[in-house]
Amino acid sequence: MVTTSHPQAYPPASHKFWGSLCLSWYTLSQEAPGKDRVERGRVRPLILRTWRLESVCYPTTRMSRQNLLDLLPSELEDLAESLGVPRYRGRQIASWLYGKGATDIEAMSDLPRDFRAILADRATVAVPEIERRTPSQDGSQKLVLRLEDGARIQSVLMPDADRLTLCVSTQVGCGFACAFCLTGTMGLERNVTAGEIVGQVLAARAGLEPGARITHIVYMGMGEPLANYAATVKSLRLLTDPKAFGFSPRRITVSTVGLVSGIERLAKENLKVNLAISLHATNNEIRDRIMPVNKGFAIEELLEACRRFPVAFRQRITFEYVLLEGVNDSPEDSRRLVRLLKGIRAKINLIPFNDWEGSGFQRPALHRIMGFQELLLEHGIRATVRWSKGEDIGAACGQLKETVEV
Ligand code: SAH
Repeated sequence: MVTTSHPQAYPPASHKFWGSLCLSWYTLSQEAPGKDRVERGRVRPLILRTWRLESVCYPTTRMSRQNLLDLLPSELEDLAESLGVPRYRGRQIASWLYGKGATDIEAMSDLPRDFRAILADRATVAVPEIERRTPSQDGSQKLVLRLEDGARIQSVLMPDADRLTLCVSTQVGCGFACAFCLTGTMGLERNVTAGEIVGQVLAARAGLEPGARITHIVYMGMGEPLANYAATVKSLRLLTDPKAFGFSPRRITVSTVGLVSGIERLAKENLKVNLAISLHATNNEIRDRIMPVNKGFAIEELLEACRRFPVAFRQRITFEYVLLEGVNDSPEDSRRLVRLLKGIRAKINLIPFNDWEGSGFQRPALHRIMGFQELLLEHGIRATVRWSKGEDIGAACGQLKETVEV
């Protein structure tokens, strides 16, 4: 299976062991100001319990304080209770974090002062810092975000008519090595935590013009969301929780390279978010060649999982199809695509290849792109051509790449 060839995508059990060990040390060595107001016997189990949440279990963050953005509103209530204050204090924290975008615990003025001190000692609000903002001629903006450990990821803001879509990253780099994707050349540096995923939304939101609002979120930035499953699902719960961000799940799309096991798990989460599949080929021979993941999960198996996926009322599964000249852009491919998607409530997003230096691929001529679309439309399949946003600033699909600070 492909997943086994990407061990970093699933932190090995030893990380959890070392994580727990370090945390025990961390917990025991903490001397919180005002600790006399907190029953020590209650504090320790709480921190150990929150530590077991997979989203904070990565080696790069294990020594740091709890990022409050990693916690669901209900977990913030648990935290408040464990620190000796009523549960509603947790709801107040949630409204500071998500309603007001507060990043300073000291500024949460309706919380008792000594509770704020205890909280600030154990926790932080770690919003990624926008290091660079590159506007494109088409109105989109690439944000380069620096995470706490110096790793960098990118998010892209894309305005379109009455929408403002934010494209978020779920990993630093990507381990799936799709042949046409620049991010794939980076390899996988590390997973991004749930707090760092929703932190991208907070960072982007803080920099918007007055009155502007992010309306849609797509998990189409750096990385493979379903290879960072726990953090992805937790971030989806945070984004859709009415007490946190309160986005409608219909406005959120998770895109996957085609990890069948992940799709099957996601199907059972009752999240009701949209699914997008990076299909990009119509037979296993071509897909094996351009997407190594196909050697683990073949097209037939992938489409079976799509047939079983619960698609919300009036929604469809999106199939992304990057058009590569002479590789997958023939009329024959178009016809095979029609046959493959029979019986699936599907729509197709044709993405003319976005070039990058040394890619070895080319975008087909315009008439070939339009011809491919035409054939699909003739067979009653919804197909749009997505002229990627942000091409001029390297923010288009598959053009995201950042170096890690040393
Ligand atoms: N890993 C997930 C999320 C990435 S989404 C996934 O594979 O779906 C980014 C989309 O852009 C994917 O469909 C990806 O295959 C596509 N893509 C990658 N490189 C591209 C390029 N150079 N031109 C056009 N699309 C590209």
